[in-house]
Amino acid sequence: MSSIYLAVLCKSNDVKEYGFNKILEPLLEDLAHLEEVGIFIPSVGHFVKGTVHVVIADNLGAHSIAGYVESFSSEYYCRFCTGKSSEIQINEVRSGGFSLRKRESYDAHLKSAQQTGSCCFGVKKECVFSTRLAHFHVLSGYPPDVMHDVFEGVVPFELKHCLSMLLSKKYFTFEFLNERIVNFPYKWTDKTNRPHAIPRSMFSQNTIGGNAHENWNLIRLLPFLVGHMVPEDEPAWLVLMDLKDIVELVVSPVHTDESIAYLDGKISEHRQRFQEVFPGVKLIPKEHFLEHYPELIKSYGPLVHLWTMRFEAKHHFFKQVARVTNCFKNIPLTLAAKHQLMISHSLKSYHLEKSALDVSTVSTVPLTVLRTEITQVIQDKYPDTEFVQITTSVTSKGLSYRNGMIVVCRSLDGLPEFAEIIQMCIVQKGLCFVLKGLCGWYREHFRAFELTSSPSREIFFLELSELADGYPLADYKVGGLRLVSLKRQIHS
Ligand SMILES: [Zn+2]
Repeated sequence: MSSIYLAVLCKSNDVKEYGFNKILEPLLEDLAHLEEVGIFIPSVGHFVKGTVHVVIADNLGAHSIAGYVESFSSEYYCRFCTGKSSEIQINEVRSGGFSLRKRESYDAHLKSAQQTGSCCFGVKKECVFSTRLAHFHVLSGYPPDVMHDVFEGVVPFELKHCLSMLLSKKYFTFEFLNERIVNFPYKWTDKTNRPHAIPRSMFSQNTIGGNAHENWNLIRLLPFLVGHMVPEDEPAWLVLMDLKDIVELVVSPVHTDESIAYLDGKISEHRQRFQEVFPGVKLIPKEHFLEHYPELIKSYGPLVHLWTMRFEAKHHFFKQVARVTNCFKNIPLTLAAKHQLMISHSLKSYHLEKSALDVSTVSTVPLTVLRTEITQVIQDKYPDTEFVQITTSVTSKGLSYRNGMIVVCRSLDGLPEFAEIIQMCIVQKGLCFVLKGLCGWYREHFRAFELTSSPSREIFFLELSELADGYPLADYKVGGLRLVSLKRQIHS
């Protein structure tokens, strides 16, 4: 987060009164200078130019700055295509029935909007950034946001409908569901982002509410909470489990042609199933945006790199400062000053040589205290090593590792191979794991893997960089089974 800098702070009331053009004027002036003249960098020896790659925002924010309609109940609410809201209920994006926005058609729509003063195919006015920048285009400048579309949109919306149906079929009661949500023995980061009890207001609203992290955890762990109470072929359950698969694909930091095609097929199948199970329920705009994702991933790369999640975390800093200083005389000034102090501090304390690992406590021990087979592997890889540092808790690149966590060490034909961390040591400044191999059997109903001990690969040693996926996972005992649910799709 110390790599996210502050350019402009303003009050939302001022945006309403003066508009983005006025508010962003100083920033646009700087950016135009950066495009035309650039900055002289002594170590490079010449001017380096730059521009804005993309604007990351929730849908309303993106549409306000880009100049599209700001109402998602209007006829043309999609910034990726000119599909009508009524057609969007009938046709899928992959059917090819909607015209994607292209430069020529966009220019014509903008011209018409400017001449008539009324919206044309969802275009209201010129994009604030396009007014000043030559190398930024509104059509490529506003990627979708997974956080708001999926975790605060599609997921809580479909959870509301599917859970309501499961409750009406009396597989479990509302009280039982909330008792499971509240008392489930969440581990590690699952505990930090544990879902809250679902409010009764879900019966009268179109969503279960909740923030992105909570909803992400709820859809991922729901099979462990109530999966055993639901029959295998229950349609509402299948809708939710399809959505769980889609979530894992959408948050994947790596994509291949195959994974994008698979996501495309999944989204289509899921839409069909949802409409069959809930024929009277209208699809929400965010479900339509999701249908554009496979094509958008081809343009932007994995969308998880462009979500607002990090910016929301950054925003948290400002909310905290506002609460603590309790001075509202000129709140943007107060926040900006505090932020610059924080950035100054982190720049000063930044060292290139600083280890990428953050450890709580370490104990240095002779290599010989480790298991013989592990000692052998380390000596083969690092011949001069006599001592290693043992630790029980490490953070690397924002991911925390503890003994007992489950990692994916390899992936064979899309099937992950799991292992449990039984010891962590630091060798030559790098994090290494002593792992216990596990067999993973896919349990489709739970969309999770059942873990059993693996006689062939008992104990082995891997470096962090050798893991197929660095994301550490938690296993849970559910009805006598030891289960683990992936957080994101793993590629071979
Ligand atoms: Zn569209």
